[in-house]
Amino acid sequence: MIPMVNLKAQYAEIREEIEAGFAQTLDSCAFILGPNVQAFEKEAAEYLGVKHAIGCASGTDALHLALLAEGIGPGDEVITSAFTFIATAEAIKYVGATPVFVDIDPQTFNITPENIEAAITPQTRAVMPVHLFGQPANLPAIVAICQKHGLKLIEDCAQSFGASVEGRQTGSFGDAAGYSFFPSKNLGCYGDGGLVATNCDQAAAKIKQYRNHGSEVRYYHDVVGYNSRLDELQAVVLRAKLKRIDEYNAARRHVAHLYSELLADLPIVTPHEDSVGVHVYHQYTLLSERRDEIMAALQAQQIASAVYYPVPLHQQNVFKADCAGLSLPVTEDVASRCFSLPICSSISDDTIKQIVGVIRSVF
Ligand SMILES: *Cc1c(COP(=O)(O)O)cnc(C)c1O
Repeated sequence: MIPMVNLKAQYAEIREEIEAGFAQTLDSCAFILGPNVQAFEKEAAEYLGVKHAIGCASGTDALHLALLAEGIGPGDEVITSAFTFIATAEAIKYVGATPVFVDIDPQTFNITPENIEAAITPQTRAVMPVHLFGQPANLPAIVAICQKHGLKLIEDCAQSFGASVEGRQTGSFGDAAGYSFFPSKNLGCYGDGGLVATNCDQAAAKIKQYRNHGSEVRYYHDVVGYNSRLDELQAVVLRAKLKRIDEYNAARRHVAHLYSELLADLPIVTPHEDSVGVHVYHQYTLLSERRDEIMAALQAQQIASAVYYPVPLHQQNVFKADCAGLSLPVTEDVASRCFSLPICSSISDDTIKQIVGVIRSVF
């Protein structure tokens, strides 16, 4: 079976380092906000080029804590994408705000500056772009819109660790950014984990407080907080992988470019890289009217493929009532034709050729 992501091959390369780190943590019994979390936060902030990186329990929590720290709440509208994982909009609902879904660009699948600007109302407080599949949204234009209209910019970087725009990391442009370390993400741990990045001292202080039961000084609580800390053992994994993240992302880009080259003559839409940022290919996503046929052919040869995402958020049961009458034609069209192929840092050229051979046999 060829899986979407081969985590076993990656683990084999870093196994010794991780086992040594685990052994040290188990011996020290410093399990909560210990030395590895502290070191990882420092290393991640350096890598991302931000003042503060604060570990938390998941990417979903990272977005939730970022919105809380920016003071987004009931009555506020947050402009975002419907073509994303549910967590983007869940975080907006957690703080009592309303997600306002706008349509995407048909080539990059990211929300466009034009659609964002057209959706601004007196209630709009923030914009939350998702750097979908690892391709940065048009940050220079989105930053300009947020400045012009006095809106907070909160980046969903769950799929974009290591992606950059004009030499700056995604997640360093906004007021705050949320990252996920779910195992299959570009930087993934071996369980759940997340991180908030921000350049703002006040926001950082609030996020640290919220993630730890609303407390700055132990057993003194100023606000109702949460239990959302990054686990010490996960930080061991993340430190090992952060050292190699550029190598991992370069390998993903190689895989994507080889797929695109080998598929170029087929009537399939291959991923478009715009000139704005560096795509790190969290997913390699194609468009085809014959998606079901192609996926069935791959399945028959024990090759995984997946649809991210089959139902856009404005059409999900949970948001249907909020979104009655909303039509997002590009999002709906892309959702009806998209499918993703296996991609990770350890997939070989021969495997890619094998996968393309199966796709070719359909045409
Ligand atoms: C994975 C993901 C999240 C949530 O991350 P978790 O760590 O699974 O909570 C949020 N947004 C997007 C776009 C994601 O892909």
